[in-house]
Amino acid sequence: MAKDAAFAALRELLGPKGLIEGEDRAPLLKEWRGRWTGAPSIVVAPGSVAETARVVALCAEHGVAITPQGGNTGLVGGQIPTNGEVLLTLRRLNRIREVSPLDYSMTADAGVTLLDAQKAADAADRLFPLSIGSEGSCQIGGVVSTNAGGVNVLRYGNARDLVLGLEVVLPNGEIWNGLKRLRKDNTGYDLKQLFIGGEGTLGVVTGAALKLFPRPRERTTVFAAVPSPAKALALLSRAQDESGGAVTSFELMSRAILTLVFKNIPETRDPLSAPHPWYVLAEFSSGEAGRLAPMVERVLGDALAAGEIVDAAIAASDRQAADFWRLRHSMAAAMLPEGAQAKFDVSVPVASVPAFLDDADAGVEACCPGARVVAFGHMGDGNIHYDVLAPEGGGAAFKSAAVGAAIERAVYDAIDRLQGSISAEHGVGLARREDIARRKQPAEIAMMRAVKKALDPKGIMNPGKML
Ligand SMILES: Cc1cc2nc3c(=O)[nH]c(=O)nc-3n(C[C@H](O)[C@H](O)[C@H](O)COP(=O)(O)OP(=O)(O)OC[C@H]3O[C@@H](n4cnc5c(N)ncnc54)[C@H](O)[C@@H]3O)c2cc1C
Repeated sequence: MAKDAAFAALRELLGPKGLIEGEDRAPLLKEWRGRWTGAPSIVVAPGSVAETARVVALCAEHGVAITPQGGNTGLVGGQIPTNGEVLLTLRRLNRIREVSPLDYSMTADAGVTLLDAQKAADAADRLFPLSIGSEGSCQIGGVVSTNAGGVNVLRYGNARDLVLGLEVVLPNGEIWNGLKRLRKDNTGYDLKQLFIGGEGTLGVVTGAALKLFPRPRERTTVFAAVPSPAKALALLSRAQDESGGAVTSFELMSRAILTLVFKNIPETRDPLSAPHPWYVLAEFSSGEAGRLAPMVERVLGDALAAGEIVDAAIAASDRQAADFWRLRHSMAAAMLPEGAQAKFDVSVPVASVPAFLDDADAGVEACCPGARVVAFGHMGDGNIHYDVLAPEGGGAAFKSAAVGAAIERAVYDAIDRLQGSISAEHGVGLARREDIARRKQPAEIAMMRAVKKALDPKGIMNPGKML
């Protein structure tokens, strides 16, 4: 069989160092929440770009499929070899190749963790601004391949905006060195963009040249209670205007999700003295020390007078700021013990977030009376994590396929009315594959298929994911 021959050839090529076996293998074959489990396969860990290219060439020769994997923190199952594909982990490609402070750039192997990339930039007195809850585990190749967003998109953009160049092993095993660190290059199609957000379906990213920024000298973190999402939107606009664009993060959260954090995550507590229906966690940053505190106080005073906030706490120390952020970063974990839930990661134009929440809430209530909606996320980017839980004390009907489908329709219809996206930052993978096939324009799906066929005619790169 082609697969047995390929596996034998891979074993010979890589030797024990390049294979992951025994108990180290099981965690790589399973999605961290247990939603998807990989079929038995071989797990390979090449130690260099050249070795990665040989692995891909060998798989292409035998017509054997590959699933690339970074930190295995993805939320849509793209990194799991559900059909027994060769699982290719980038974990041994973990070198920062170069940090160039004058260029404001850094070149890193795909297997460097996001946290290590941030630290390398920091050591050179620069900032790599991409920041997400999984940054200790997820890898540069993974954040590039999912076009990760996170909490600083408002100011710095998502992964797509932070990549200057890529090195990719193409599906035939050829290495494309696109690591030029240019800010301007109008010499035809911007090919790297195909692999950014490509979810491993077009090739294996082995290295990336990344944009760096001046390191902020001062940060101020605010936890504010707001009467409604509409008031939060007004606060965002005021904060951006009055601070001259110093807002780095602007996260919205409902009381419902905060209550679950206090219930399910140890040592968390409410920064404010009384409960409120909605909250904003906002961070401001500046390259100039001493400027932020009076300016943020002025913004909050004006917002209070205008009825946009009802209470607020400004972090008095880095420790307190970290405590505020811990509330936000614990939200995914706080949902885990809560049983069946329908989860959505959606986006609409920023100004349409309040309308989306009203519209979706009404649709969900109509098809599942009493269902509990938990909404939070990156309001500054128009990106809301919208999760629906069973009504208090009664979950049987909620678990039925018909109710699940009705809830999904209610949320997606609200998204369509506001010209939004059904997957804002987590991607498509296995979870949203059928949804995009139904929701994208036929011309879009046709173009995506044409690109896939042109680059991967044998269909060996992460088949069954995204398309
Ligand atoms: C607690 C938590 C918080 C999160 N917060 C956010 C958030 O705020 N914003 C956000 O966008 N995401 C978030 N995520 C999702 C996840 O962390 C990101 O999608 C991350 O970018 C995935 O990186 P990874 O290295 O773990 O990739 P993996 O999960 O291993 O893979 C993800 C996809 O990329 C492909 N891939 C991985 N590496 C490569 C490579 N080198 N070449 C080609 N394809 C590759 C895989 O095949 C798969 O399709 C969060 C996840 C968790 C667990």
